Amino acid sequence: MSYHTRRPLTCHGDGRYARRVALTPSRTVDELRDLRELTGDENGAQRVAWTPVWRQAKEWLSSKLQELPLEYEVDAAGNQWWTLRGASDQAVLLGGHIDSVPNGGWLDGCLNVLAAVEVLRRIAGEGTPAVTIRLVNWADEEGARFGRSLFGSSAAAGSMADQDELRDLRDRDGIALPDALREHGVELDNAIDARSQLQRAAAYLELHIEQGPVLESLDLPLGAVLGTFGVERHRITWRGQAAHAGSTPMDQRRDALAGAAKLALELREIAARTGDGAVLTSGGVVCKPGIVTSVVETAEQLLDMRHLDAGKLASMWEQVREACERFAAEERLEVEHERIWEIEPILFDETLIGFADEAIREVAGTAHRLPSGPLHDAAEIARAGVPTVMLFVQSLRGLSHTKLEDTKPEHLELAVQALDRLASKTIASVAESAK
Ligand SMILES: [Zn+2]
Repeated sequence: MSYHTRRPLTCHGDGRYARRVALTPSRTVDELRDLRELTGDENGAQRVAWTPVWRQAKEWLSSKLQELPLEYEVDAAGNQWWTLRGASDQAVLLGGHIDSVPNGGWLDGCLNVLAAVEVLRRIAGEGTPAVTIRLVNWADEEGARFGRSLFGSSAAAGSMADQDELRDLRDRDGIALPDALREHGVELDNAIDARSQLQRAAAYLELHIEQGPVLESLDLPLGAVLGTFGVERHRITWRGQAAHAGSTPMDQRRDALAGAAKLALELREIAARTGDGAVLTSGGVVCKPGIVTSVVETAEQLLDMRHLDAGKLASMWEQVREACERFAAEERLEVEHERIWEIEPILFDETLIGFADEAIREVAGTAHRLPSGPLHDAAEIARAGVPTVMLFVQSLRGLSHTKLEDTKPEHLELAVQALDRLASKTIASVAESAK
């Protein structure tokens, strides 16, 4: 690809020519609005992965990078990579995802991609960087069409191990996942060849909207992310006795819903006792027989628990089990539980968290560290052993995955500046250790 030569040229020691480009954070905000215009409608963003609108968004993104001296490739999992060769082949990766949920927000995923585009412009404008810089647009972070999140990043991280399940996934119209992927040039069976992309990765940086209310409640624009929560999900089944709603005195009932209800409230106490951002959710209770004239015989309760500390997560489950036994005794019920899904907490890199802190302090005055409740591509990359950190920028009202998702333009601009500074610090550090 070629340089444009309309602007003044700067001669560099290596004989290459580059045009100096000052970081222009307002351009990122303009480009985010352009993308919204191009790929959204009155209900929000429609860049669902493996659809024509997603393809359109990817082509638009490519067009934004055409002016820069980058190598371009699409890997076996459909991830787009742009590489700016540096003096060292050790690479600093900047990543994000341009796909969205249906009726999604205008910032989730694409903010990091477009902020990284701006950072790449600045770095490329200064000539050959000390280390190689790569921008990645991960394929299908959201899993909106087939219900499988983090597709491209899990393929690159080598953690994609559910090929057989993936083969059987179908969308609402009955289209199988492998067929949809093939339309976009991806063969499911080859997807894990994307692993080779992380071979020279020395660091991975990702900026994202917070998607929660913490930074707004602290009145801070930016935060350094410590890692992503570990998650445990359990199904808790309470068993009592169905009995007539009219003829059974209150003190003679074995009401399964009473156990579930007591536990739902106890979750608040467990969260308060555990602290450090512990969250527990009873997201669903199904009662049987579920008719107005009967005491509940069985209540199937779903539990989701999250914490950044594996030990605290384990202690939360201990407390839940103890509470289950206590409430079962009080209500004369039987209770059993089954673990349905779990993922361990993933901690980001201490050094990079420090750089993120510094970068935020430089552009916004005050830094804050916080965990991430949602999973992100960054979690997959960290799990693969690449030193990783994320920056969060404040989300207004904590809303995301809705067209109401928003962030103040001045905060978006600060976020671009912070990512740029974080990238510079990381590049310097990787270059130093590559010597
Ligand atoms: Zn996202």
